[in-house]
Amino acid sequence: MRASTRLLRAVLLAAAALASSLLPQSASADTLPEQADGVVDYRITVTLDAGKKQLQGRERITWRNPSAEPVAELWFHLYLNAFQNTNSTFMRESGGQLRGAEIASDGWGWINVDTLKLADGTDLRPTFHFQSPDDHNADDRTVASVRLPAAVKPGETVTLDVDFTAQLPRIFARTGYSGDYFLVGQWFPKLGVYEPAGMRGRETSGWNCHQFHADSEFYADFGRYRVEFTVPARFVVGATGQRVDRRDNGNGTTTYVYEQANVHDFAWTAFPGFVEVKRRFESAREVSSQEYAAAARLLDRPLDQMRLRDVEVTLLMQPEHMAQLDRHVRAVMLSLKSFGLSYGYYPHPTLTVVDPPFGGAGSGGMEYPTFITGGTSALLNFRPFTHINAPEEVVVHEFGHQYFQGMLASNEFEEAWLDEGINSYATGRVMEEAFGPDATLISFLGWRFGGRDLIRLEYTANALLNAIKQPAWTYSEPGAYTFNSYMRPELMLRTLEHHLGPQLMARAMRTYAERWRFRHPSTEDFLATMSEATGKDLRPLLGPVLYRGDILDYELGTVTSTPTRPAAGYFDTPKGRTLTTQDEADAKAAAGNHAPQFDTAVIVRCREDNVWPVEIAFKFEGKPAERVWWDGSTRWKRFEFHRPEKLEWVDIDPERRLELDVDWLGNARRVEPDRRAAVRLTSRWLLVMQQILTWVGL
Ligand SMILES: [Zn+2]
Repeated sequence: MRASTRLLRAVLLAAAALASSLLPQSASADTLPEQADGVVDYRITVTLDAGKKQLQGRERITWRNPSAEPVAELWFHLYLNAFQNTNSTFMRESGGQLRGAEIASDGWGWINVDTLKLADGTDLRPTFHFQSPDDHNADDRTVASVRLPAAVKPGETVTLDVDFTAQLPRIFARTGYSGDYFLVGQWFPKLGVYEPAGMRGRETSGWNCHQFHADSEFYADFGRYRVEFTVPARFVVGATGQRVDRRDNGNGTTTYVYEQANVHDFAWTAFPGFVEVKRRFESAREVSSQEYAAAARLLDRPLDQMRLRDVEVTLLMQPEHMAQLDRHVRAVMLSLKSFGLSYGYYPHPTLTVVDPPFGGAGSGGMEYPTFITGGTSALLNFRPFTHINAPEEVVVHEFGHQYFQGMLASNEFEEAWLDEGINSYATGRVMEEAFGPDATLISFLGWRFGGRDLIRLEYTANALLNAIKQPAWTYSEPGAYTFNSYMRPELMLRTLEHHLGPQLMARAMRTYAERWRFRHPSTEDFLATMSEATGKDLRPLLGPVLYRGDILDYELGTVTSTPTRPAAGYFDTPKGRTLTTQDEADAKAAAGNHAPQFDTAVIVRCREDNVWPVEIAFKFEGKPAERVWWDGSTRWKRFEFHRPEKLEWVDIDPERRLELDVDWLGNARRVEPDRRAAVRLTSRWLLVMQQILTWVGL
């Protein structure tokens, strides 16, 4: 370390210490927890039959009762039964497709629990029951429970031995096989979450163990995993966690052992065609001292809290995508750095990035702890498609889930936005930093297209306005889950960032990411933490969108700017009461060379009960635009002016900072069409596109 750097560091530390002493205690009390308070321990041995596409597994599960009362039942997920037949809840809801991929007619999957015993040998199978708490679909077999002979006391543990057989589905929804490619996710009997009273607002303790739905992802407790899997020797493999052993069995198979603590899931992959590429994220090389200092300044944290850790990165690429290797590597390094500096260091020693083959695309774009899947196409090897930033976007997004799912392990069944929505917002920030705000998706021959433009288009054209927070299977119609879990929360958080300013937003998000790291935050926890960290009660702003799905839409009502007519009628003068007709008054005013005055009235309206403060720009002829804030606390407000200039135009939220505003078309108006003046109001192509979409009725 050079002397100048040391000096800089000392100054920054002193400044940070001073600043933090001025902050409320709670805002500076957070530091990054090293590990989760583990509840589960899984030791799984599994063999892949690559021909039959089956798994033969044995697992030892140890569960600790985290609540204050005895627990006599255990609930499990058996996710693969979603693919058993058309009667499962997943298949009924999805119609056998997800994100455009469809189930193959011979592609069914299932999982059987063959034996289920306590460690002392007590057979629990006689008490085994399928459960369908969400929809009472008796044909759904994705959740099961067993009754224990003796309740597990608070803080004590129970250990189970489970044998299972699983038929993997042909990949269309995250997991399964495509030819010789296997992405093994949601694959083992897995405990639900026993939520103690008080957790996530619960009044009484109980199991949270939802069925597998078309639109839901997952929720599980933190713990330790040790998985031994045996595959044909020719396969290249990857998995959650660190490889601790590899044994050639001498019979054409190889066994791999992986371990990881502080995670809530485990996935693995096997494919003979992978090109394995190893890279190391060396924090000392990837992050400069200036970048550390800038992050510390932005977040108002000591420099030591900014430090990132080194990570072993494994990329399992398809040979036909090797032309995009550097792009994948850059996206991984960018993610480790950007998310780490914003939300705290990535805590695990490894990260594996799987690039699925063409037929396995349904497993792409997915996140598991320390293990993500990308998504690209050989088409993007060639110009002009090389200018599409899709592979980067997928990697950044899936990596982001290491935070807003891997560590802030919210209940994706019940409040998916905490994961997908916050992660979409965070992804957008990283992509904008890397590619520029208007070119996160495409930049080619001067044509730039950003993610924000895309979601704004979708927002306006197809606003499926459900409440953001609701169970994933209760949205009104197809697409409403995605819209309200990803896009709308992203717009909401971007709007919040504009409202708070980037610095306060970054600090509050950091506090949220720290305080709930290795925990299970709820929507209320998010609101409480963000309100506390910003010193503002954010519930009035965010609550209507989160809990009711209210739309925010500012628009102009009547806009008039007319010359003030001279006064007419009877007037009391020293000579007595005299009559002046309007014509006489007009003529007198015209002859008198008086500059005309204008009466201007503008009605600004807000649909529904949103109360986002808004800026309004008024442009009078020959004058610079003037800006006025309105707190939005009433349904409408009338702005009146009496002055020599005529109003030229008015524009609500001229910078378009309220990205949550569903319709920007009604925001701006010229008082009179005037082609000589700069037509800045309609120059945004987005507004034009919005109009076109409205016309064609999309
Ligand atoms: Zn996601």
